[in-house]
Amino acid sequence: MEAGLTLDARLIAAVEARASDLETLLRDLVRAPSLNPPGDTRAAAAIALDYLASSAVPAQALGAADDRPSVIAASRGDRHRLLFLSHLDTVPLGSRDAWEVDPFAGHTSDGRLYGRGAADAKGSAAAMLLALRVLAAEAPDVAAEVAVALVADEETGGQGAQHLLDRGLLAADAVVVGETTDNQVAIAEKGVAWFRLSTRGRTAHASVPYAGVNAAAHLVRWLERLDRRLVPELARRRHPLLSPPTLSIGTLAGGVAPNVVPDHAEAVVDRRTLPRETVDFAREEILAQAAAVGMEGREARASVDTLIAAEPFETPAEATVVQAALAARRALGLAASPVGYQQASDGRFFGARGIPTIVLGPGVAEGTHVPNESVPLAQVLETAKLHALAAYRVVRALDATPLP
Ligand SMILES: [Zn+2]
Repeated sequence: MEAGLTLDARLIAAVEARASDLETLLRDLVRAPSLNPPGDTRAAAAIALDYLASSAVPAQALGAADDRPSVIAASRGDRHRLLFLSHLDTVPLGSRDAWEVDPFAGHTSDGRLYGRGAADAKGSAAAMLLALRVLAAEAPDVAAEVAVALVADEETGGQGAQHLLDRGLLAADAVVVGETTDNQVAIAEKGVAWFRLSTRGRTAHASVPYAGVNAAAHLVRWLERLDRRLVPELARRRHPLLSPPTLSIGTLAGGVAPNVVPDHAEAVVDRRTLPRETVDFAREEILAQAAAVGMEGREARASVDTLIAAEPFETPAEATVVQAALAARRALGLAASPVGYQQASDGRFFGARGIPTIVLGPGVAEGTHVPNESVPLAQVLETAKLHALAAYRVVRALDATPLP
């Protein structure tokens, strides 16, 4: 071990020495609005690049369009031992009146920094940038094996990560995704699918409704059946780290006028899935309930289209990246047992393909996508320490002993 301080102690001290640096970086990121839509990440990307210029790790900005750059910092272009991935875009403000602080000022109070994106995910992004800088200074051999990617378009479907993936820039042996886990190590993530349920019937004058086949009435029966049969069944499915799967009816549409029997109606449902529930399985399950209400026999037709789908994933607890992150928590005196992440993240691009992936970042999910978003600055600093300590362990494959 290095003379004097251990590498752990040196990394921790180096992160702490840059606490005010980190606050400035996070404030600057919050002051660079990147609401999505429209998804313009140019100002936020410029701040990240500027900060990276001092970390001796090559960095570049690139994206599918000029106004939505992602930033990637990596010593090696081909394959990274460890990839830190988070996002620069944020959700919209929602009701501006509900904000008690300027969402783009980066105001601090009681140790928290406020603003849209403060937690989701600029807090994670700032921690990753600081961790890389500290690693480059204190453990250049580790920094050389690590990449940090801060992508655009996470909140609207992951096109930013997809763009980098398509160019082969995100190949990695393990991935740490920066999202709000309260700095816990999340090793399982739920999936999400949006399904459009359509019914087709036959139109008629509403004065002789029996002459037609009412698509709206059939859709109502189908949805009612889902609510009564499928929703309770989903609630009984269990996972040790994730909440049960769900189905929520989101939008409804159909019909042309009150005096016309509608020949078409549709609903869009949001289905959250557990690992091992595939999108096809979830789709078939919904369609089966249409058959159960006897739709075909009444000349009505039902179909289910997949609008978006993000697969769930689960990383084995024995994976090096999991053990490294848990060991990093223990090194900081924090409790260390894996948790689940109940939302969807860009981690699915890796986890669903069998690449060991964890989610870890400051803030809690309940405090995001709402007005007055904030993140505790001390926790962002803790995240940077966890990132640096975990990276060092992954790259040197240290402390990879499975938990008892
Ligand atoms: Zn996020």
